[in-house]
Amino acid sequence: MKKFRGIYIKNSAEIALMREASRIVSVILDALGEAVEPGVPTMHFEDIAQDMCRRFGVQPAFQGYGGFPFALCCSVNEEIVHGFPSRERILREGDVVSFDMGVIYERFYGDSARTYPVGTVSEQARTLLDVTRESLNRGIAQAMPGNNLYDVSRAVQDYVEGLGFSVVRRFVGHGIGSKLHEKPEVPNFVPSGTVGPVLKPGMVLAIEPMVCVGSYEVEILEDKWTAVTKDRKLSAHFEHTVAVTHDGPVVLSVS
Ligand code: MG
Ligand code: MG
Repeated sequence: MKKFRGIYIKNSAEIALMREASRIVSVILDALGEAVEPGVPTMHFEDIAQDMCRRFGVQPAFQGYGGFPFALCCSVNEEIVHGFPSRERILREGDVVSFDMGVIYERFYGDSARTYPVGTVSEQARTLLDVTRESLNRGIAQAMPGNNLYDVSRAVQDYVEGLGFSVVRRFVGHGIGSKLHEKPEVPNFVPSGTVGPVLKPGMVLAIEPMVCVGSYEVEILEDKWTAVTKDRKLSAHFEHTVAVTHDGPVVLSVS
C-alpha cells in the first residue's frame, strides 16, 4: 500500500472492503438504537452486537484489542468512551448511551459510534447530542483533498466551543484501514506547535468528536478502561469512518 507522510493511501478495492466493514457496523448500530429503552441492561447490547457479528461473518474489532473484553463499548451519561457492557447497569429514562462498534471484514476495519437518548431526556442532553452529531458533520465536510487535517479538527472545535460545550483532548480520531488505529491522529481540537498533514485521496479517517457539557477533563475508572468526565457531567460521542476521495469526503459507515 502506498503511503504519504506515513499515512496509508487505499485503492478503490480496499476502500470497497472498508465500505462493507463500515456498512455492517452501521447496521449493527441501527439495531442497537432500536433496542434502547428504559429497563434494558447494557449487556443486552453486547449480546446483539456479538450475535450480528456472527451472522455477518465478521470479527468484532475491539474484543481483545489491548485487552478490551467486549465487542461493544457501551458508555452511559458521564462515561465518555470505553465503557463495559454490564448485566447490572440498567438504562433509565433520561440517560444517554453511547455505542462504539468496530468490525473486521476481509482484513479491513470499520469503526463508528453514536449516542442515543433513553426515553425522554433533558433539553441539555438533547442539545448535547445535536451539537456532537453536527460537529462530526462539520468535521467530515472538511475532509477534502488539499485541505489540511487540522481543518477537520478546527471545524469540530469551533462549532462545539462556540456553543459553550467542550471537546475531549485525551482521546482522538485516527486513520483506519487494515489496522484499527493507523496514522494520522485526528484530534477534535487544533494542536499547538505542530502542522497537520495535507489530505490526499485514498486516506481513510475515523473522525470521532467526544463532547462534554462541562469540562473536558477525563478520569479513568478502576476497571482501567472506562473514561468518565472528571466533573461527572454528560458526554456524547459520534464517529464515522470517512474516505477522502477526488470528489470529496465519503462517509463509509452508513447502512
Ligand atoms: Mg470507534
Ligand atoms: Mg475510532
